[in-house]
Amino acid sequence: MNPLHSREKDFEKIKQTKYDLIIIGGGVTGAGIALDAISRGLKVLLVEKGDFASGTSSKSTKLIHGGLRYLKQFEIGLVREVGRERAIVHKLCPHLVVPEKMLLPLYEDGSFGKFATSLGLWVYDFLADVEGEDKRMMLTKEETLEHEPLLKKEKLTGGGFYAEYRTDDARLTIEIIKTARQFGADVLNYAEAVSFLYNNEGQVEGIEVKDHLFEKNFKVKAGVVVSAAGPWVDELRKKDGSLSKKRLFLSKGVHIVVPHDRFPVKNALYFDVPDGRMIFAIPRWNVTYIGTTDTPYSGDKNRVLAEEKDVKYLMDACNLMFPEVNLSKKDLSSTWAGLRPLIYEEDKSASEMSRKDEIFKSQNGLISIAGGKLTGYRKMAERTVDVVIENLKKEHQVENLKPCKTDQIPIGRKPLKNSEEVNQCKSEIATLIARHFSNAAVVADYLVANYGKEAFEIVERFPNGLVNQWELIKAEIDFCIKNELTFLPLDFLNRRSGRLYFDLDVTEPHIDQIVHYFAEVFEWSESKLEAQKNLVARTVQDAKVFN
Ligand code: FAD
Repeated sequence: MNPLHSREKDFEKIKQTKYDLIIIGGGVTGAGIALDAISRGLKVLLVEKGDFASGTSSKSTKLIHGGLRYLKQFEIGLVREVGRERAIVHKLCPHLVVPEKMLLPLYEDGSFGKFATSLGLWVYDFLADVEGEDKRMMLTKEETLEHEPLLKKEKLTGGGFYAEYRTDDARLTIEIIKTARQFGADVLNYAEAVSFLYNNEGQVEGIEVKDHLFEKNFKVKAGVVVSAAGPWVDELRKKDGSLSKKRLFLSKGVHIVVPHDRFPVKNALYFDVPDGRMIFAIPRWNVTYIGTTDTPYSGDKNRVLAEEKDVKYLMDACNLMFPEVNLSKKDLSSTWAGLRPLIYEEDKSASEMSRKDEIFKSQNGLISIAGGKLTGYRKMAERTVDVVIENLKKEHQVENLKPCKTDQIPIGRKPLKNSEEVNQCKSEIATLIARHFSNAAVVADYLVANYGKEAFEIVERFPNGLVNQWELIKAEIDFCIKNELTFLPLDFLNRRSGRLYFDLDVTEPHIDQIVHYFAEVFEWSESKLEAQKNLVARTVQDAKVFN
């Protein structure tokens, strides 16, 4: 049966429901608010105009980190909060938030001196309650080169080795949304809030939604509407007539991806760029990705592209720090670019502006949340839902609500308890698929890192006989369509599997098959098939435009 039929049924229910809370935006901020609100007992609807995490929440550096550089800017409160959040989010979702040691090389003329780094990293660990083996280590020059032989040796004085976590931002967002759905939240992707509905007192009482899959509009009402629209927050404030002096400032951040064997770093690294900024190089399976830039942006928010100068900036920085590597444009396998929705501060450059979040309340009752970090999504959600409940209480609309308990709610349909269970799961999957793939351990690592314990459900979908790459992809797609509100090829290629950026060489030969398979499952017309083929081709081209 065409999976769109169940979406039609969802619509009928949604149109007839009066919600406590409508959330606009299915990035990590909206996802976090949905889970917090539904688990406290509110009736929740989340609408997302594209796919979940299709905005900034799939374009980040994919670190759950305390933000060492914010310490340098004396943002102690921010560092403390996000630093502590790292361990909480790891505990809630250990397959997606994975401990990763970060190496900070120190140079005679670098931005961090040895003593200041030792002290800074100590404070960083102290603020975040880091304990035991995870505490920072200061390395000699020789030890630093042992950890990372590719580093420039000249003027190297040593290194700092400290604890962070890496994640997959889009998968984390989707898993939080799946968890909110399990609690009973209604969620729709490809559903855009096109206008606000107001009551007789001029207060927001709902939204008009345009469904982009059925090309139909409908209205839906709620006690409170929250906009968690990331870079689009000001557009919605404008629609509400409540755009004030306090505005967003959009800063573009670009990452480049190269094959790991062309840039074979052994660790994640955080290193200096000559202009005084710092960037990351992060190994991930068979690639290394490098980022990010931080430049003002005023172009099309729906199609943010890496430009020649961004790529040059990142490559030059790598070639200075890793002279033997000597990257050139032909080494790039892909790029991605995203927008930071920062709160504007006069007389500050993009990289100096604070990453703090802020809640705006309009006179018409619209609540908007912007700024912040992926890492702090849970605390941002808690603060937002506190404000929502305050508003609902003024109208006596709610009672018997529970306190925020998202620090206790494991994320995902079948959560794993800890890193040991994650490793156990990987080795069981590797054994199950050993006869199909010569690199079974790598495939198992990919499946569990992406889908956690649900990887078993993908493997169970394998047909009899030996399975090839296409049959693996098809099993993943079937799983995503059934469990993860996946409607279009790019939902799968980009946000569900990350294959577009991290395994393009292996996936590209199957792209035509993937698009045709979606056409068959969703019974597309010829013109829809053509449009989707073009969209996928354009996106692949955008990702690898420089090679
Ligand atoms: P978004 O993810 O953009 O979500 C907003 C959503 O609202 C979008 O999906 C959009 O389609 C939807 N929307 C807009 N208008 C409407 C409408 N009218 N109707 C329905 N839906 C609508 N943070 C970290 O903690 N660690 C990092 O390593 C890190 N690295 C970063 C690197 C870069 C380059 C950038 C740009 C940011 C980075 N961040 C990082 C910050 C982090 O990615 C963001 O703070 C976070 O993803 C913002 O999420 P969001 O949900 O607020 O916005």
